Amino acid sequence: MARDDDLTKHRTTRTTSELVEQGLIAPDQRSDIERVAQQFAIAITPSVLETIATRDSEGGVARQYVPSAAENTITPDELDDPIGDLAYTPVKGIIHRYPDRVLLNAIQTCAVYCRFCFRREQVGPSAKSLNAEELHAALDYIGKHDAVWEVILSGGDPLMMPPKKLAYIATTLAEMKHVKVLRLHTRVPAAAPERITTELIEALRILTPTYVAIHVNHPDELTADVTAACARLADAGIPLLGQTVLLKNINDRADVLERLFRRLIEIRIRPYYLHVGDKARGTSHFRTGVAAGQKIMQQLRGNVSGLCQPTLVLDIPGGHGKVPVGPCYTEQAADGFLVTDVNGNRHTYRED
Ligand code: SF4
Repeated sequence: MARDDDLTKHRTTRTTSELVEQGLIAPDQRSDIERVAQQFAIAITPSVLETIATRDSEGGVARQYVPSAAENTITPDELDDPIGDLAYTPVKGIIHRYPDRVLLNAIQTCAVYCRFCFRREQVGPSAKSLNAEELHAALDYIGKHDAVWEVILSGGDPLMMPPKKLAYIATTLAEMKHVKVLRLHTRVPAAAPERITTELIEALRILTPTYVAIHVNHPDELTADVTAACARLADAGIPLLGQTVLLKNINDRADVLERLFRRLIEIRIRPYYLHVGDKARGTSHFRTGVAAGQKIMQQLRGNVSGLCQPTLVLDIPGGHGKVPVGPCYTEQAADGFLVTDVNGNRHTYRED
C-alpha cells in the first residue's frame, strides 16, 4: 500500500493498522504483530519514518523500531527484569546499585519504542510515570544519601518530560551539595530532534556539568536534523556521549560501527558504551553474543582513532552490574605479561 505522506509528516505511528498503511509491515503479518503489540509498546516518530523512507538502504533503522513476529518468541533465559533493577529500588523511581550514583526514572514514556529495549516491560504510553508525591520522595532519597555524586536520569526517556519538570528536577539536585554531576540517557535527539528546543537546553544547563548520553545504533540515524539537534546541545556547552547497543543484522559489522563512531566524533559525541544486548523477553533475534562484540572491537582497534572506541560492556543478568567484557590484550606470565598487539602478535612485557 502507498505511504500516507500526511501521516508520515505529522503523527507518530503506534498501531498495526498504521504500520500497514505506512507499508512497514505486510497485511498478512498483522495478526502476529497484534500479538506483539499486546505485550510491548510501539511508536515510530515522523522523523524516524522519514529516515526509514529516505536513507535506510540497509534497513538498519527500520529493524530497530518496526515490530516483528520474532518478538513473540520468548527464550527460557529471557527475563522481565533482565538487569535486575527491582532488587536495587529502595523507593519508586530510584535504582541505587552503585554507591556513588543513582538512576532516577521519573518518566516511563519514550518518543519511540525500540524493539530490543531492556526496559520494555516497564515503558509505554500507558505506563505510569512518577506523580508529584513520588518524585518528591525520590528526590528526598537522593538528598539524604551524601555518597551520591552523580544522578542519572533514564526511563523511559527523560527528554520526553516537559522542560519545566526537567528544570525542577535539575534545580532540586543542584541545591544538594553532594550531587556534582547529572547525566541523561536519551533517544530523543536521534528520534525526535525537534524536541531539542531552547527551553529544554536551558533546563539542561541548570546543573553543571550535565552530560547527555545519546542512544544511536546506526550511522543512517544521523540525519541533518539529528545532527543539528546534537549541535544545539554541544553549542550550549553540554558534553555529549554516545551509547550504542550491538544488534544482529543492524550494526554487528566493523564497517557499520566504524562509520557510526567516526560520525559521532565528527559531530562532537564521544562513543561511551557499546552494550551487549540484554536478555529482555522477545529479543533473542537481536543478540549477537559477547564474542561477536569482542571481534568487532578488535577490528576497530588499530584501524580507527582511539576517540572512536567505546567500551564493550555487559550488564550481568540478575542485577550484578555492568562490566567491560574485553577484548583483553594481556595475559599474566611468570615475569610480567604477554601482550597481544592489534595484529595478533604476542609480546612479553616484563615487570621487575
Ligand atoms: S528509548 Fe530507551 S527506554 Fe525507550 S524504548 Fe528505546 S531503549 Fe527503551
